[in-house]
Amino acid sequence: MSEQIIHKDSATGLPVGTVAAFLNLSAAMVALYTDGADQYGDPKAAWFCLGCGKHSHIARQLATSRTEANAHAAECRAIPWPQPNLI
Ligand SMILES: [Zn+2]
Repeated sequence: MSEQIIHKDSATGLPVGTVAAFLNLSAAMVALYTDGADQYGDPKAAWFCLGCGKHSHIARQLATSRTEANAHAAECRAIPWPQPNLI
């Protein structure tokens, strides 16, 4: 089984294709991002927590991943991870 590769936007630190972000209990973001399409052409999505690093293992229907991302945000207490100063 291969590890999911999450490409991030260097300017924002969010996964490429982010369409929504949820705040967890400690203000870390859980990003919901598009990741391909299903056999009918409908977008699939995955999520990634910028606080604890947990993420979905596979891309699912957008509504399903949105529910999972929101549920993780509601239970995660990780603080926002410090970002290196790139300037
Ligand atoms: Zn988390």
